[in-house]
Amino acid sequence: MEKKIELIGLSKEELAAFIADIGEKPFRAKQLWQWLYYHGETDFDKMSNLSKDFRAKLQQHCTITRPKIITEQISADKTHKWLLEFPDGQRIETVYIPEEDRGAVCISTQVGCAVGCKFCHTGSQKITRNLTAGEIVGQFMVARDVYHEWPSPHDETRYLSNIVVMGMGEPLHNMDNVIKALKILTDGEGIAISKRRITLSTSGIAPNIVPMIQATGVKLAISLHAPNNEKRSQIMPINKRYPLEEVLRACHEYQQLDGSHFVTFEYLMLKDFNDSLEDAHELMDLMRKFKINAKFNLIAFNPWPGCAYEPSSRNKIIAFSKELQKKRFAAPIRVPRGQDILAACGQLKSKKAQE
Ligand code: SAH
Ligand code: SF4
Repeated sequence: MEKKIELIGLSKEELAAFIADIGEKPFRAKQLWQWLYYHGETDFDKMSNLSKDFRAKLQQHCTITRPKIITEQISADKTHKWLLEFPDGQRIETVYIPEEDRGAVCISTQVGCAVGCKFCHTGSQKITRNLTAGEIVGQFMVARDVYHEWPSPHDETRYLSNIVVMGMGEPLHNMDNVIKALKILTDGEGIAISKRRITLSTSGIAPNIVPMIQATGVKLAISLHAPNNEKRSQIMPINKRYPLEEVLRACHEYQQLDGSHFVTFEYLMLKDFNDSLEDAHELMDLMRKFKINAKFNLIAFNPWPGCAYEPSSRNKIIAFSKELQKKRFAAPIRVPRGQDILAACGQLKSKKAQE
């Protein structure tokens, strides 16, 4: 029996080519795209403006698959976490982080992660495989199903207003699929999330930073976490391959390209490791040296079972933030969300690996 084609994850061009292949007119591809990504429809029979014949062909040749929800948890602060499973049995987590009248869906890009940062639960899991474009887009579509946000809302008050590519995995280790997924998510005739409402976070795969931004136009966040190579290499082994200088040179280039002309850095506050005022000064010197307009998000470390690090005290974080602000660097302190259900940054791990 011929293998059916999964429609979710095909690019617009691939969908058009497929429609031509089965002998249908080009406008059919556009209609189908809208059913898939504007209406979020999963049932061919409900695609009412498509002819019966065309629907029968689609039934025969194609599938529309969503990742399967294995478990879902809602934390005290309303953060919503799903454990999702793909047809091959691999599992990842996706999180929805609500705010007043909007919210961000945090999506994963790999099962596990090869970068192996010492403070990260995902990183303790090793890499199993990359997610496909369809699996990346599918996570957002599941969240929309759950929050009943189909058809794609056009106003700014939608709940699922933003996307952060900050879940499990290193997005710049899965370039092709992530680029393809972001193109689908931002397409104006479908899901239509503006690229300015998408932030991609990377541990600093230096040569891929500028190409990713050129291909997608999304915003970038760099996981910096240390003010020098010695410390950074201790907690992020990737730093030996792509040291700070290379990462910051790429950031400088990104800064020239991006309309906002600044770079956001995530800085994890680890007790007695990177949280002193000297660390803050070294960090600022680094930014001056590489001519970077930096904004720092100071992140409280979220512990997980078996991790070796401890979070900095609240006072230390405040003092660090003030020191940066004295020199006019924005340095907001990020409140962890969903900690009680292990949904916060760095706590995600597939259940299988946890068992
Ligand atoms: N791989 C990418 C994106 C996923 S991680 C990256 O590393 O940037 C998203 C963010 O969570 C990163 O800034 C990461 O450093 C941070 N993070 C990882 N473990 C954490 C933990 N235990 N507590 C708080 N933040 C953590
Ligand atoms: Fe991978 Fe990011 Fe976790 Fe590091 S922090 S191990 S890059 S997911």
